[in-house]
Amino acid sequence: MHYISTRGTAPKLTFEQTMLAGLARDGGLYLPECVPQMAPADIAALAGRPYEEVAFAVMRPFIGDTFTDDEFRAIIARAYAGFVHPARAPLKQLGPNHFLLELFHGPTLAFKDFAMQLIGQMFQASLARSGDRITIVGATSGDTGSAAIEAFRGLANVDVFILFPEGRVSEVQRRQMTTPTEANVHAIALKGDFDDCQARVKDMFNDFAFRDAVGLAGVNSINWARVLAQVVYYFTAATALGAPHRAVDFTVPTGNFGDIFAGHIARAMGLPIGRLVIATNQNDILHRALTTGRYETDGVKPSISPSMDIQVSSNFERALYLALDGDGSTVAKLMQDLKSGGFTIPQGAIEGLRAAYASGRASEEETSATIARILATTGELLCPHSAVGVSVADGILGTSPILSTQILPPEAPVPSTGATNSMITLATAHPAKFPDAVQAATGIRPPLPAHMADLFDRPERVTPLANHLATLQGFIRERITH
Ligand SMILES: *Cc1c(COP(=O)(O)O)cnc(C)c1O
Repeated sequence: MHYISTRGTAPKLTFEQTMLAGLARDGGLYLPECVPQMAPADIAALAGRPYEEVAFAVMRPFIGDTFTDDEFRAIIARAYAGFVHPARAPLKQLGPNHFLLELFHGPTLAFKDFAMQLIGQMFQASLARSGDRITIVGATSGDTGSAAIEAFRGLANVDVFILFPEGRVSEVQRRQMTTPTEANVHAIALKGDFDDCQARVKDMFNDFAFRDAVGLAGVNSINWARVLAQVVYYFTAATALGAPHRAVDFTVPTGNFGDIFAGHIARAMGLPIGRLVIATNQNDILHRALTTGRYETDGVKPSISPSMDIQVSSNFERALYLALDGDGSTVAKLMQDLKSGGFTIPQGAIEGLRAAYASGRASEEETSATIARILATTGELLCPHSAVGVSVADGILGTSPILSTQILPPEAPVPSTGATNSMITLATAHPAKFPDAVQAATGIRPPLPAHMADLFDRPERVTPLANHLATLQGFIRERITH
Protein backbone atom coordinates (compact mmCIF):
# COMPACT_ATOMS: atom_id res chain seq x y z
CA MET A 1 0.00 0.00 0.00
CA HIS A 2 1.45 3.35 -1.08
CA TYR A 3 0.31 6.91 -0.54
CA ILE A 4 0.12 9.70 -3.12
CA SER A 5 -0.10 13.46 -2.74
CA THR A 6 -3.20 15.47 -3.68
CA ARG A 7 -0.95 17.84 -5.64
CA GLY A 8 0.51 15.08 -7.74
CA THR A 9 4.27 15.73 -7.63
CA ALA A 10 5.58 14.55 -4.22
CA PRO A 11 7.06 11.03 -4.12
CA LYS A 12 4.88 8.07 -3.20
CA LEU A 13 5.42 6.98 0.39
CA THR A 14 4.78 3.94 2.56
CA PHE A 15 2.33 4.19 5.45
CA GLU A 16 5.16 4.70 7.95
CA GLN A 17 6.71 7.51 5.90
CA THR A 18 3.31 9.12 5.38
CA MET A 19 2.58 9.02 9.10
CA LEU A 20 5.93 10.56 10.03
CA ALA A 21 5.83 13.20 7.27
CA GLY A 22 2.35 14.62 7.82
CA LEU A 23 2.31 17.05 4.89
CA ALA A 24 3.65 16.14 1.41
CA ARG A 25 6.66 18.05 0.10
CA ASP A 26 4.62 19.53 -2.77
CA GLY A 27 2.27 21.07 -0.17
CA GLY A 28 -0.37 18.39 -0.75
CA LEU A 29 -1.98 15.84 1.56
CA TYR A 30 -1.42 12.11 1.31
CA LEU A 31 -4.11 9.64 0.28
CA PRO A 32 -3.92 5.87 -0.23
CA GLU A 33 -3.37 4.87 -3.85
CA CYS A 34 -6.52 2.79 -3.63
CA VAL A 35 -9.05 2.18 -0.87
CA PRO A 36 -9.15 -1.41 0.42
CA GLN A 37 -12.59 -2.97 0.14
CA MET A 38 -14.50 -4.85 2.82
CA ALA A 39 -17.09 -7.39 1.69
CA PRO A 40 -20.55 -7.28 3.33
CA ALA A 41 -19.82 -10.55 5.17
CA ASP A 42 -16.62 -9.09 6.64
CA ILE A 43 -18.51 -5.99 7.76
CA ALA A 44 -21.28 -8.11 9.27
CA ALA A 45 -18.67 -10.01 11.27
CA LEU A 46 -17.65 -6.79 13.05
CA ALA A 47 -21.04 -6.27 14.69
CA GLY A 48 -20.81 -6.47 18.46
CA ARG A 49 -17.02 -7.00 18.51
CA PRO A 50 -14.81 -5.00 20.91
CA TYR A 51 -13.66 -1.62 19.57
CA GLU A 52 -10.02 -2.76 19.44
CA GLU A 53 -10.87 -5.75 17.24
CA VAL A 54 -12.82 -3.61 14.80
CA ALA A 55 -9.93 -1.11 14.77
CA PHE A 56 -7.50 -3.86 13.78
CA ALA A 57 -9.74 -5.24 11.02
CA VAL A 58 -10.48 -1.82 9.52
CA MET A 59 -6.99 -0.30 9.67
CA ARG A 60 -4.78 -3.35 8.98
CA PRO A 61 -5.06 -3.19 5.14
CA PHE A 62 -3.86 0.45 5.17
CA ILE A 63 -0.63 0.05 7.12
CA GLY A 64 1.27 -2.31 4.80
CA ASP A 65 4.24 -3.86 6.58
CA THR A 66 4.86 -0.94 8.96
CA PHE A 67 3.93 -3.16 11.91
CA THR A 68 3.44 -6.89 12.30
CA ASP A 69 -0.06 -8.04 13.26
CA ASP A 70 1.07 -8.61 16.85
CA GLU A 71 2.74 -5.20 17.08
CA PHE A 72 -0.29 -3.48 15.64
CA ARG A 73 -2.67 -5.27 18.02
CA ALA A 74 -0.52 -4.21 20.97
CA ILE A 75 -0.39 -0.60 19.71
CA ILE A 76 -4.19 -0.49 19.43
CA ALA A 77 -4.62 -2.02 22.89
CA ARG A 78 -2.35 0.60 24.49
CA ALA A 79 -3.99 3.44 22.54
CA TYR A 80 -7.48 2.80 23.87
CA ALA A 81 -6.62 1.52 27.36
CA GLY A 82 -6.96 5.07 28.76
CA PHE A 83 -10.56 5.47 27.60
CA VAL A 84 -13.00 5.36 30.49
CA HIS A 85 -15.93 3.69 28.65
CA PRO A 86 -15.69 -0.03 27.79
CA ALA A 87 -17.37 0.56 24.42
CA ARG A 88 -14.84 3.37 23.68
CA ALA A 89 -17.40 5.02 21.34
CA PRO A 90 -20.85 4.29 22.82
CA LEU A 91 -24.12 5.08 21.01
CA LYS A 92 -27.04 6.78 22.77
CA GLN A 93 -30.53 7.24 21.41
CA LEU A 94 -31.88 10.78 21.13
CA GLY A 95 -35.11 10.17 19.24
CA PRO A 96 -36.99 7.49 17.30
CA ASN A 97 -34.41 7.42 14.55
CA HIS A 98 -31.60 9.62 15.83
CA PHE A 99 -28.51 8.40 17.68
CA LEU A 100 -25.56 10.12 19.29
CA LEU A 101 -22.08 8.61 18.93
CA GLU A 102 -20.18 9.68 22.03
CA LEU A 103 -16.53 10.24 21.13
CA PHE A 104 -15.44 12.02 24.29
CA HIS A 105 -14.49 9.25 26.71
CA GLY A 106 -10.75 9.57 26.02
CA PRO A 107 -8.17 11.30 28.24
CA THR A 108 -8.75 14.88 26.96
CA LEU A 109 -12.52 14.63 26.48
CA ALA A 110 -12.74 15.14 22.70
CA PHE A 111 -12.79 12.83 19.68
CA LYS A 112 -9.23 13.89 18.84
CA ASP A 113 -8.05 11.31 21.41
CA PHE A 114 -9.12 8.44 19.14
CA ALA A 115 -6.51 9.38 16.55
CA MET A 116 -3.92 11.05 18.75
CA GLN A 117 -3.60 8.22 21.27
CA LEU A 118 -3.14 5.80 18.40
CA ILE A 119 -0.53 7.84 16.54
CA GLY A 120 1.29 8.50 19.81
CA GLN A 121 1.74 4.73 20.14
CA MET A 122 2.58 4.29 16.45
CA PHE A 123 5.20 7.09 16.48
CA GLN A 124 6.74 5.64 19.63
CA ALA A 125 7.02 2.15 18.12
CA SER A 126 8.46 3.50 14.88
CA LEU A 127 10.99 5.84 16.54
CA ALA A 128 12.11 3.16 19.00
CA ARG A 129 12.99 1.00 15.99
CA SER A 130 14.81 3.71 13.99
CA GLY A 131 16.37 5.66 16.85
CA ASP A 132 15.27 8.89 15.11
CA ARG A 133 14.19 12.00 16.97
CA ILE A 134 11.41 14.26 15.78
CA THR A 135 9.86 17.63 16.49
CA ILE A 136 6.09 17.72 16.34
CA VAL A 137 4.62 21.10 15.53
CA GLY A 138 0.86 21.39 15.53
CA ALA A 139 -1.80 24.06 15.17
CA THR A 140 -4.92 23.80 17.26
CA SER A 141 -8.29 25.40 17.73
CA GLY A 142 -8.15 23.75 21.18
CA ASP A 143 -8.75 20.02 21.10
CA THR A 144 -5.99 18.77 18.78
CA GLY A 145 -3.37 20.49 20.93
CA SER A 146 -4.55 19.02 24.21
CA ALA A 147 -4.89 15.56 22.67
CA ALA A 148 -1.42 15.77 21.06
CA ILE A 149 0.24 16.92 24.27
CA GLU A 150 -1.46 14.14 26.21
CA ALA A 151 -0.33 11.56 23.64
CA PHE A 152 3.32 12.73 23.35
CA ARG A 153 4.17 14.15 26.80
CA GLY A 154 7.30 12.63 28.23
CA LEU A 155 8.21 10.54 25.15
CA ALA A 156 11.99 10.26 24.81
CA ASN A 157 12.47 10.97 21.09
CA VAL A 158 9.87 13.69 20.64
CA ASP A 159 9.44 17.39 21.33
CA VAL A 160 5.93 18.73 20.87
CA PHE A 161 5.15 22.39 20.11
CA ILE A 162 1.51 23.44 19.94
CA LEU A 163 0.36 26.78 18.52
CA PHE A 164 -3.06 27.90 19.73
CA PRO A 165 -4.83 31.21 19.03
CA GLU A 166 -4.37 33.34 22.14
CA GLY A 167 -7.66 34.06 23.92
CA ARG A 168 -9.71 31.92 21.52
CA VAL A 169 -9.71 28.55 23.26
CA SER A 170 -11.78 27.59 26.29
CA GLU A 171 -10.10 27.71 29.69
CA VAL A 172 -10.28 23.93 30.06
CA GLN A 173 -8.66 23.50 26.63
CA ARG A 174 -5.93 26.00 27.49
CA ARG A 175 -5.17 24.42 30.84
CA GLN A 176 -4.96 20.96 29.29
CA MET A 177 -2.16 22.35 27.09
CA THR A 178 -0.36 24.55 29.62
CA THR A 179 -0.33 22.42 32.77
CA PRO A 180 1.64 19.30 31.74
CA THR A 181 5.05 19.51 33.43
CA GLU A 182 7.15 17.42 31.03
CA ALA A 183 10.12 19.27 29.48
CA ASN A 184 9.27 18.10 25.94
CA VAL A 185 5.91 19.93 25.97
CA HIS A 186 5.83 23.52 24.65
CA ALA A 187 2.55 25.46 24.46
CA ILE A 188 2.63 28.63 22.33
CA ALA A 189 -0.14 31.26 22.52
CA LEU A 190 -0.02 32.79 19.03
CA LYS A 191 -1.24 36.32 18.50
CA GLY A 192 -3.70 35.47 15.73
CA ASP A 193 -6.57 33.12 14.90
CA PHE A 194 -6.56 29.39 14.16
CA ASP A 195 -6.03 29.92 10.44
CA ASP A 196 -2.86 31.87 11.29
CA CYS A 197 -1.64 28.97 13.46
CA GLN A 198 -2.34 26.48 10.67
CA ALA A 199 -0.70 28.71 8.04
CA ARG A 200 2.51 29.08 10.10
CA VAL A 201 2.71 25.30 10.61
CA LYS A 202 2.33 24.80 6.85
CA ASP A 203 5.05 27.44 6.26
CA MET A 204 7.41 25.48 8.50
CA PHE A 205 6.74 22.30 6.52
CA ASN A 206 7.42 24.15 3.27
CA ASP A 207 10.76 25.46 4.61
CA PHE A 208 12.68 22.26 3.79
CA ALA A 209 15.93 23.37 5.48
CA PHE A 210 14.08 23.94 8.76
CA ARG A 211 11.93 20.85 8.25
CA ASP A 212 14.97 18.60 7.87
CA ALA A 213 17.07 20.34 10.55
CA VAL A 214 14.54 19.80 13.35
CA GLY A 215 12.99 16.56 12.02
CA LEU A 216 9.58 18.13 11.67
CA ALA A 217 6.56 15.86 11.98
CA GLY A 218 2.92 16.87 11.77
CA VAL A 219 -0.01 15.55 13.75
CA ASN A 220 -2.72 17.86 12.49
CA SER A 221 -5.58 16.21 10.66
CA ILE A 222 -3.55 16.69 7.48
CA ASN A 223 -1.76 13.57 8.78
CA TRP A 224 -3.32 10.56 7.05
CA ALA A 225 -2.87 8.35 10.12
CA ARG A 226 -5.31 10.56 12.02
CA VAL A 227 -7.97 10.25 9.37
CA LEU A 228 -7.45 6.50 9.31
CA ALA A 229 -7.97 6.12 13.08
CA GLN A 230 -11.28 7.93 12.77
CA VAL A 231 -12.62 5.56 10.11
CA VAL A 232 -13.04 2.88 12.79
CA TYR A 233 -15.93 4.36 14.76
CA TYR A 234 -18.05 4.71 11.63
CA PHE A 235 -17.85 0.91 11.43
CA THR A 236 -18.63 0.24 15.10
CA ALA A 237 -21.60 2.62 15.02
CA ALA A 238 -23.06 1.52 11.69
CA THR A 239 -22.78 -2.19 12.44
CA ALA A 240 -24.43 -1.65 15.84
CA LEU A 241 -27.42 -0.23 13.95
CA GLY A 242 -27.70 -2.97 11.37
CA ALA A 243 -25.03 -2.39 8.70
CA PRO A 244 -24.28 -3.91 6.26
CA HIS A 245 -27.93 -5.01 6.03
CA ARG A 246 -29.19 -1.49 6.72
CA ALA A 247 -27.63 1.77 5.59
CA VAL A 248 -27.15 4.61 8.06
CA ASP A 249 -26.62 8.36 7.76
CA PHE A 250 -24.08 10.41 9.70
CA THR A 251 -24.00 14.08 10.67
CA VAL A 252 -20.57 15.38 11.60
CA PRO A 253 -19.75 18.68 13.36
CA THR A 254 -17.08 19.89 10.97
CA GLY A 255 -14.14 22.28 10.99
CA ASN A 256 -11.05 20.98 9.24
CA PHE A 257 -13.01 18.22 7.43
CA GLY A 258 -10.91 15.37 8.89
CA ASP A 259 -13.64 13.58 10.79
CA ILE A 260 -16.22 13.62 8.00
CA PHE A 261 -13.60 12.64 5.44
CA ALA A 262 -12.95 9.53 7.56
CA GLY A 263 -16.66 8.73 7.05
CA HIS A 264 -16.18 9.07 3.32
CA ILE A 265 -13.31 6.56 3.47
CA ALA A 266 -15.49 4.15 5.48
CA ARG A 267 -18.13 4.43 2.76
CA ALA A 268 -15.53 3.95 0.02
CA MET A 269 -14.43 0.74 1.81
CA GLY A 270 -17.96 -0.59 1.45
CA LEU A 271 -19.77 0.51 4.60
CA PRO A 272 -23.34 1.41 3.53
CA ILE A 273 -23.54 5.07 4.50
CA GLY A 274 -26.28 7.08 2.80
CA ARG A 275 -25.95 10.72 3.69
CA LEU A 276 -22.80 12.22 5.16
CA VAL A 277 -23.90 15.58 6.47
CA ILE A 278 -21.40 18.39 7.09
CA ALA A 279 -22.60 20.47 10.06
CA THR A 280 -20.93 23.87 10.44
CA ASN A 281 -21.33 26.71 12.89
CA GLN A 282 -21.46 30.33 11.69
CA ASN A 283 -18.03 29.74 10.11
CA ASP A 284 -19.78 28.06 7.23
CA ILE A 285 -17.31 28.05 4.33
CA LEU A 286 -18.05 24.40 3.58
CA HIS A 287 -21.83 24.83 3.61
CA ARG A 288 -21.51 27.88 1.36
CA ALA A 289 -19.11 26.04 -0.95
CA LEU A 290 -21.53 23.15 -1.48
CA THR A 291 -24.47 25.51 -1.88
CA THR A 292 -22.90 28.11 -4.18
CA GLY A 293 -19.93 26.31 -5.77
CA ARG A 294 -17.53 29.05 -4.55
CA TYR A 295 -14.94 28.13 -1.91
CA GLU A 296 -14.29 31.52 -0.42
CA THR A 297 -12.79 32.59 2.89
CA ASP A 298 -14.62 35.16 4.94
CA GLY A 299 -12.65 35.75 8.17
CA VAL A 300 -13.13 33.68 11.31
CA LYS A 301 -16.03 34.70 13.57
CA PRO A 302 -15.43 33.45 17.12
CA SER A 303 -18.30 31.20 18.25
CA ILE A 304 -19.40 29.09 21.22
CA SER A 305 -18.09 26.04 19.32
CA PRO A 306 -14.47 27.25 19.02
CA SER A 307 -13.00 23.96 17.75
CA MET A 308 -14.92 24.58 14.54
CA ASP A 309 -13.91 28.25 14.13
CA ILE A 310 -12.02 27.61 10.92
CA GLN A 311 -12.20 29.06 7.45
CA VAL A 312 -9.54 27.16 5.56
CA SER A 313 -10.60 23.55 5.93
CA SER A 314 -7.44 21.55 5.23
CA ASN A 315 -8.88 18.15 4.51
CA PHE A 316 -11.35 19.55 2.02
CA GLU A 317 -8.38 19.32 -0.34
CA ARG A 318 -8.63 15.53 -0.12
CA ALA A 319 -12.32 15.58 -1.05
CA LEU A 320 -11.60 18.00 -3.88
CA TYR A 321 -8.86 15.74 -5.24
CA LEU A 322 -11.24 12.78 -5.32
CA ALA A 323 -13.99 14.89 -6.91
CA LEU A 324 -11.47 15.99 -9.57
CA ASP A 325 -10.66 12.33 -10.32
CA GLY A 326 -7.12 12.64 -9.03
CA ASP A 327 -6.11 15.72 -11.02
CA GLY A 328 -3.31 16.97 -8.76
CA SER A 329 -2.28 19.90 -10.93
CA THR A 330 -5.80 21.38 -10.79
CA VAL A 331 -5.83 20.92 -7.02
CA ALA A 332 -2.48 22.75 -6.80
CA LYS A 333 -3.82 25.61 -8.93
CA LEU A 334 -7.05 25.96 -6.90
CA MET A 335 -5.08 25.97 -3.63
CA GLN A 336 -2.91 28.75 -5.08
CA ASP A 337 -6.09 30.73 -5.91
CA LEU A 338 -7.27 30.21 -2.34
CA LYS A 339 -4.34 32.30 -1.12
CA SER A 340 -5.97 35.28 -2.84
CA GLY A 341 -9.38 34.63 -1.29
CA GLY A 342 -11.12 31.75 -3.02
CA PHE A 343 -11.92 29.70 -6.11
CA THR A 344 -14.86 28.33 -8.05
CA ILE A 345 -15.13 24.56 -7.80
CA PRO A 346 -15.08 23.11 -11.35
CA GLN A 347 -18.49 21.91 -12.57
CA GLY A 348 -17.86 18.16 -12.56
CA ALA A 349 -16.26 18.35 -9.13
CA ILE A 350 -19.07 20.29 -7.45
CA GLU A 351 -21.55 17.71 -8.70
CA GLY A 352 -19.41 14.94 -7.24
CA LEU A 353 -19.11 16.76 -3.92
CA ARG A 354 -22.86 17.38 -3.73
CA ALA A 355 -23.42 13.70 -4.42
CA ALA A 356 -21.02 12.71 -1.65
CA TYR A 357 -21.95 15.22 1.07
CA ALA A 358 -24.96 17.13 2.29
CA SER A 359 -24.50 20.17 4.49
CA GLY A 360 -26.15 22.46 6.98
CA ARG A 361 -25.29 25.28 9.34
CA ALA A 362 -26.36 26.16 12.88
CA SER A 363 -26.36 29.72 14.18
CA GLU A 364 -25.22 30.55 17.71
CA GLU A 365 -28.88 30.82 18.81
CA GLU A 366 -29.81 27.47 17.24
CA THR A 367 -26.81 25.85 18.94
CA SER A 368 -27.75 27.12 22.41
CA ALA A 369 -31.42 26.28 21.87
CA THR A 370 -30.44 22.74 20.85
CA ILE A 371 -28.39 22.22 24.04
CA ALA A 372 -31.43 23.30 26.10
CA ARG A 373 -33.93 21.29 24.05
CA ILE A 374 -31.93 18.04 24.15
CA LEU A 375 -31.44 18.38 27.91
CA ALA A 376 -35.18 18.92 28.35
CA THR A 377 -36.26 16.07 26.07
CA THR A 378 -33.60 13.42 26.78
CA GLY A 379 -31.61 14.45 29.86
CA GLU A 380 -28.39 14.53 27.81
CA LEU A 381 -26.05 17.49 28.12
CA LEU A 382 -24.42 18.27 24.75
CA CYS A 383 -21.22 20.24 24.15
CA PRO A 384 -21.79 23.13 21.72
CA HIS A 385 -20.04 21.32 18.82
CA SER A 386 -22.21 18.25 19.23
CA ALA A 387 -25.22 20.59 19.44
CA VAL A 388 -24.33 22.08 16.04
CA GLY A 389 -24.48 18.53 14.69
CA VAL A 390 -27.75 17.66 16.40
CA SER A 391 -29.32 20.91 15.23
CA VAL A 392 -28.42 20.23 11.59
CA ALA A 393 -29.37 16.54 11.81
CA ASP A 394 -32.77 17.38 13.30
CA GLY A 395 -33.25 19.78 10.39
CA ILE A 396 -32.65 16.93 7.99
CA LEU A 397 -34.84 14.52 9.97
CA GLY A 398 -37.68 17.00 9.61
CA THR A 399 -37.81 18.60 13.04
CA SER A 400 -36.67 21.90 11.52
CA PRO A 401 -36.21 23.19 7.94
CA ILE A 402 -33.91 21.21 5.64
CA LEU A 403 -30.82 23.24 4.97
CA SER A 404 -29.20 21.87 1.86
CA THR A 405 -29.52 19.30 -0.88
CA GLN A 406 -28.87 15.68 -0.06
CA ILE A 407 -28.29 13.09 -2.72
CA LEU A 408 -27.17 9.53 -2.20
CA PRO A 409 -23.60 8.92 -3.32
CA PRO A 410 -23.36 6.93 -6.55
CA GLU A 411 -20.36 4.89 -5.38
CA ALA A 412 -22.19 3.25 -2.47
CA PRO A 413 -25.68 2.22 -3.56
CA VAL A 414 -27.78 1.77 -0.48
CA PRO A 415 -29.67 -1.52 -0.22
CA SER A 416 -33.34 -0.78 -0.63
CA THR A 417 -35.04 -2.36 2.36
CA GLY A 418 -37.80 0.20 2.47
CA ALA A 419 -36.55 1.29 5.91
CA THR A 420 -35.50 4.85 6.67
CA ASN A 421 -31.83 5.17 7.51
CA SER A 422 -30.98 5.86 11.11
CA MET A 423 -29.18 9.15 11.65
CA ILE A 424 -26.05 9.07 13.79
CA THR A 425 -24.70 12.42 14.98
CA LEU A 426 -21.13 12.51 16.22
CA ALA A 427 -20.77 13.98 19.73
CA THR A 428 -17.26 15.37 19.39
CA ALA A 429 -16.51 16.68 22.89
CA HIS A 430 -17.59 16.34 26.51
CA PRO A 431 -19.81 19.20 27.75
CA ALA A 432 -17.39 19.88 30.64
CA LYS A 433 -14.79 21.04 28.12
CA PHE A 434 -17.04 24.03 27.26
CA PRO A 435 -18.76 24.76 30.59
CA ASP A 436 -19.50 28.44 29.90
CA ALA A 437 -21.52 27.79 26.75
CA VAL A 438 -23.35 24.87 28.37
CA GLN A 439 -24.15 26.89 31.48
CA ALA A 440 -25.38 29.84 29.42
CA ALA A 441 -27.74 27.53 27.52
CA THR A 442 -29.03 25.44 30.43
CA GLY A 443 -28.05 26.98 33.77
CA ILE A 444 -26.11 23.79 34.53
CA ARG A 445 -22.32 23.85 34.85
CA PRO A 446 -21.07 20.39 33.83
CA PRO A 447 -18.34 19.17 36.24
CA LEU A 448 -14.99 17.86 35.01
CA PRO A 449 -14.54 14.10 35.35
CA ALA A 450 -12.63 13.02 38.47
CA HIS A 451 -9.31 12.36 36.68
CA MET A 452 -8.92 16.06 35.86
CA ALA A 453 -10.80 17.63 38.73
CA ASP A 454 -7.68 19.55 39.88
CA LEU A 455 -7.04 21.09 36.45
CA PHE A 456 -7.72 24.61 37.72
CA ASP A 457 -5.19 24.26 40.57
CA ARG A 458 -2.22 23.24 38.40
CA PRO A 459 0.34 25.94 37.43
CA GLU A 460 0.37 27.00 33.76
CA ARG A 461 3.38 27.21 31.46
CA VAL A 462 2.91 28.99 28.11
CA THR A 463 4.90 31.26 25.78
CA PRO A 464 3.05 34.05 23.94
CA LEU A 465 4.59 34.64 20.48
CA ALA A 466 3.93 36.86 17.47
CA ASN A 467 2.34 35.51 14.29
CA HIS A 468 5.75 35.56 12.61
CA LEU A 469 7.47 32.58 11.00
CA ALA A 470 11.10 33.40 11.88
CA THR A 471 10.20 34.12 15.52
CA LEU A 472 8.44 30.79 15.82
CA GLN A 473 11.26 28.90 14.12
CA GLY A 474 13.83 30.56 16.38
CA PHE A 475 11.86 29.57 19.46
CA ILE A 476 11.58 25.96 18.30
CA ARG A 477 15.30 25.66 17.45
CA GLU A 478 16.21 27.04 20.87
CA ARG A 479 13.84 24.88 22.88
CA ILE A 480 14.20 21.45 21.32
CA THR A 481 15.63 19.10 23.90
CA HIS A 482 17.61 17.02 21.40
C1 LIG B 1 -11.76 19.21 15.94
C2 LIG B 1 -13.17 19.29 16.39
C3 LIG B 1 -14.23 19.35 15.46
C4 LIG B 1 -14.00 19.44 13.98
O1 LIG B 1 -13.45 18.26 13.44
P1 LIG B 1 -12.71 18.29 12.02
O2 LIG B 1 -12.14 16.93 11.85
O3 LIG B 1 -11.65 19.35 12.15
O4 LIG B 1 -13.73 18.64 11.01
C5 LIG B 1 -15.51 19.34 15.96
N1 LIG B 1 -15.76 19.30 17.30
C6 LIG B 1 -14.77 19.24 18.20
C7 LIG B 1 -15.10 19.21 19.64
C8 LIG B 1 -13.44 19.22 17.78
O5 LIG B 1 -12.45 19.17 18.69
